Amino acid sequence: MAKLQTPRVKNWTGTLKKIWQYLSRQKRLLIVIFLMVLLSSATGLLGPYLLGFTIDRLDSDASTLTLLLVLLAGTYVIHSVAMWLHNYWMIGVAQRTVYQMRTDLFRHLHMLPISYFTKRQHGELMSRLSNDMENVSQTLNSSFIQVFSSILTFIGMLGLMLWISPLLTAITLTIIPLLYFGMKWITARTGRYFKQQQRHLGELNGYVEETLSGQRIVKTFSQEPKVQLAFKERNEQLKHAAYWAQVYSGFIPKLMNVLNNMSFAVIATAGGLMALKGGITIGVIITFAEYARQFTRPLNDLANQFNTFLSAIAGAERVFEVLEEDEEAKDEQDATQIVSIHGELRFEHVSFGYGEDEHTLRDVSFHARPGQTIALVGPTGAGKTTVTQLLARFYDPDEGSIVIDGRDSRSIQRTSLRQHIGYVLQDTFLFEGSIRDNIRYGKLDATDEQVERAAQEANAHGFIQKLPQGYDTLLTQDGSGISQGQKQLLSIARALLADPSILILDEATSSIDTITEIKIQEALIRLMKGRTSIVIAHRLNTIRRADQIVVLQDGAIVEQGSHQELLAIEGAYADMVASQFTEKPQHA
Ligand code: ADP
Repeated sequence: MAKLQTPRVKNWTGTLKKIWQYLSRQKRLLIVIFLMVLLSSATGLLGPYLLGFTIDRLDSDASTLTLLLVLLAGTYVIHSVAMWLHNYWMIGVAQRTVYQMRTDLFRHLHMLPISYFTKRQHGELMSRLSNDMENVSQTLNSSFIQVFSSILTFIGMLGLMLWISPLLTAITLTIIPLLYFGMKWITARTGRYFKQQQRHLGELNGYVEETLSGQRIVKTFSQEPKVQLAFKERNEQLKHAAYWAQVYSGFIPKLMNVLNNMSFAVIATAGGLMALKGGITIGVIITFAEYARQFTRPLNDLANQFNTFLSAIAGAERVFEVLEEDEEAKDEQDATQIVSIHGELRFEHVSFGYGEDEHTLRDVSFHARPGQTIALVGPTGAGKTTVTQLLARFYDPDEGSIVIDGRDSRSIQRTSLRQHIGYVLQDTFLFEGSIRDNIRYGKLDATDEQVERAAQEANAHGFIQKLPQGYDTLLTQDGSGISQGQKQLLSIARALLADPSILILDEATSSIDTITEIKIQEALIRLMKGRTSIVIAHRLNTIRRADQIVVLQDGAIVEQGSHQELLAIEGAYADMVASQFTEKPQHA
């Protein structure tokens, strides 16, 4: 069995304070709820007292007895109504609070830098939005108020009992140490296992999501047995934690029951003896027995709710952790929007590392005039993708600068800059929806005609029309139902529609049938026309056509120039051409 660690709520007061910040937005309703809790607790205490009082006066006249009975009934009715009302209102408060937290969390997730997501599993983040929020919601719905009213009831009851009979109270309280140690033993375990359960559930979800979205890879590499094994391990961890969490929390009501019966026996015996000596009345014994029965109930509630409460605090803490992650660095104070750009692009002595001390890019400089194509070539890991990530300002250079139309890119607001950059990447991002909507993702306000025109230019119109539902054909997230090449045509259509001035192109490495390949090449030439393009190139055709080829090795530029120039110097590029690049069919 894998060794399990114990995650904890790291900062109780901080987390509670933050929850309060959310709750306090409904302060007025909370005050009303608070008053209702007071009322229900007070009437809850009054009931048993009145009961004992009435029993001791059973020999009174009929009208006194009737009055007492009406009072008793009234007390119980008010108790129930007040309880119902505070529960009802609290559900409203809870749901509005959780709604707000969920909104904030989702919004914040979209403000985080790319680097945050590369470090985490999607499933784990999703579990914060779903599981953790659900725990907070559950707790706010009921436990929060219950814990509060239990504490009130407990204190009130203790006071009343002491007032009626200190001796009998002392005898009743002998069960408290038993209760304390029993509960301590149980909660130490349940708390731990509930948190583990939470964490393992997140990991399991993350893993399922990962393997499902990576199904193709799993199948291609025949990784099914390995995936099953890894799943089994996570599944077993979850089972282990969930099993023990349930087992230990199941002890709580049993323990309470035993203690309840014990205290009843103690009160009946001790109270009976005291009554025989004339110290107390039958009514007092009844009141005490009733209190003792209820005495463990608030403690029972406290204990029962404690687990939900714990996992909710832990959940809330995880949510706040995300909320406190730094957003993508704010745009510089003087950063402005850009309305249009020509597309002149200059990397000036750019150095960059993902971590502190590494240098993924070293002193990279190149210059593209508007409309030119730069082909980035070099072995895997050379830093080609990193160049494009810096261009889109997913990261900023550690040294040097990226200059667009004569302006340092840091002086341009990120969203504004990204609006002028288009992407055609290897794995096209498709979402569930029609082909039309998927193309329209490039420009949300485009008309149907504009969408179709873009599809025509992208050579995608033909295949789309042949689909049974044409542009209304629904795609799944992984785009099953259309081919790899067709997906690329769609992403070209999307980019054409968006009409960016700068284009980032990650040429597909996978081979595609000749006809589609020609269509893609044609569409790409149309797309690149008049736009400054940075192409991570794998096809010799594309490279040859580029205005400039930048050869990267280990993050540094080793050669730079046109195809002919670079062949002539017979260096790294010439070697690569000879060994690596594929000659693909020339189009007309
Ligand atoms: P290429 O596109 O030429 O294959 P990349 O730009 O993707 O190369 O990667 C360059 C180097 O940077 C590689 O060593 C890679 O491991 C590292 N790298 C890429 N992305 C990240 C990241 N998000 N965090 C840390 N290191 C990264």
